[in-house]
Amino acid sequence: MLQPPFNQKTIDLFNRYQTSGVFHPYTCGNCSGVSLKINSEHLYCKECDYTQDKIHMLPTEEQLTSQEQIIKTFLIKGEIKDD
Ligand SMILES: [Zn+2]
Repeated sequence: MLQPPFNQKTIDLFNRYQTSGVFHPYTCGNCSGVSLKINSEHLYCKECDYTQDKIHMLPTEEQLTSQEQIIKTFLIKGEIKDD
């Protein structure tokens, strides 16, 4: 579990995680389906005042990259199959 203050590396990784499409992103506890943003102090919602100060799970950069590669491989296979 990661707790604040979040360093730049964690912030960059979190942002990548949120948009990767590989993992389910962290979302607001109030607004349905709104992905949380991050700064050095906490995760926050841009639509309301919801904040969360712990990141329960974040893959390493290497794990994220490897998962992205797997997804890309599936997508490429899917495209070939559709043809
Ligand atoms: Zn919200």
